[in-house]
Amino acid sequence: MRINEKHTIKNPFSRRKFIFQVSRWGVGSIVLSTMTSLVSCGGTTSTEKADENKMKQKEGKKLGVALVGLGGYSGGQLAPALQETEHCYLAGIVTGSPDKIDEWKNKYKIPEGNIYDYENFDTIKDNPAIDIVYVVLPNSMHAEYTIRAAKAGKHVICEKPMAVTVEDCDRMISACKDAGKMLSIGYRLHFEPYNREMMRLGQEKVYGEIKKMVGENGMGSAGGWRLDKELAGGGPLMDVGIYCIQAMRYVTGMEPIAVSAKEGKKTQPDKYKEVEESLIWQMEFPGNLIAECKTSYSEGMNLLRAEAVNGWFELSPAYGYGGIQGETSEGKMDFEDVNQQALQMDDFAIAVKEERDTPVPGEMGKQDVKILQAIYRAMQTGERIEIT
Ligand code: NDP
Repeated sequence: MRINEKHTIKNPFSRRKFIFQVSRWGVGSIVLSTMTSLVSCGGTTSTEKADENKMKQKEGKKLGVALVGLGGYSGGQLAPALQETEHCYLAGIVTGSPDKIDEWKNKYKIPEGNIYDYENFDTIKDNPAIDIVYVVLPNSMHAEYTIRAAKAGKHVICEKPMAVTVEDCDRMISACKDAGKMLSIGYRLHFEPYNREMMRLGQEKVYGEIKKMVGENGMGSAGGWRLDKELAGGGPLMDVGIYCIQAMRYVTGMEPIAVSAKEGKKTQPDKYKEVEESLIWQMEFPGNLIAECKTSYSEGMNLLRAEAVNGWFELSPAYGYGGIQGETSEGKMDFEDVNQQALQMDDFAIAVKEERDTPVPGEMGKQDVKILQAIYRAMQTGERIEIT
């Protein structure tokens, strides 16, 4: 079965100064050259941008987003991106660390009434300034906060991996449906031009049938909750290997039929007591297409490659926030860097406003979790596991 059937991407980018057609999914458009110049403008501070945002918000144009969990990704990427967004803005925060509040409040002009902790979080239901809750917590906490947000009447963006079990994914999807609220997963690469070009080349079979794919994503180190099975659900596969699973699905437009996997040797057994340090796995797709994948917490790697009957196409690096580079058997790809998170959040805000589907829904996140679980089962049993 093809994924993204409704959203099959047809040559979405012309070279340089292209228009990112969010309208592919039903509405509006965002001119990326404008976005890029905003991203790269040097002299404007976060505070000035927050002021600007507040003014635009008063004009009633933007949906309010509350970030839940003020860690590396919220602080380093999402909050700055919310200063660039045109359809949503950073309206609130949810944190268990009182010492973080002053800095966030001052930097982003967040009103006292829009600041929550994990205990009083449910009272967010009474706050009309918050339209969207963005869950940016350790993986095993995603389900609880997504469900609580839906029950509080908020639309939800949840970070990847959607949850640590398929059952949790089902509960999250049901909670949002029951509340009549939308749910999307933080799959930023669906809004990134090089990855979208890979989707086009693969799904439209520009170089014919794909015969082999390679996906590698690893980091040189990891720490904290990422090494705690209870909180992370697993090791690098859950955290960064998931990008390879996503990529195999969006480049081929197909679902894997079976997986096999082998855990790598632990070079630091004390550190990786609870989760794998590295893993290699294989995904079988219809038509004898094989995807060979690798992930690690002790080796940096970043590759997405497709070999088709009439040529090849690849990204290296493939999955970063910027600096992605692409090449095909005919030459280099040439697209501008974009603010992936700003585009991702704006697209969700537009989807909410216009009541249309998101291209990265909970169901997509659930399918990835299903595949992740099958890979872990294959790793533990040494058997080929069919995905049903
Ligand atoms: P961090 O460890 O940097 O931040 C997590 C935050 O969660 C903490 O700062 C804390 O915020 C809150 N938290 C609540 N309970 C706990 C707990 N028991 N242990 C640790 N933290 C807790 O993680 P990241 O920001 O890197 O990752 C958060 C989520 O975002 C993960 O699901 C990850 O997979 C995803 N992510 C996605 C990326 C992407 O590119 N899409 C990139 C990076 C991460 P506070 O102090 O405010 O309560």
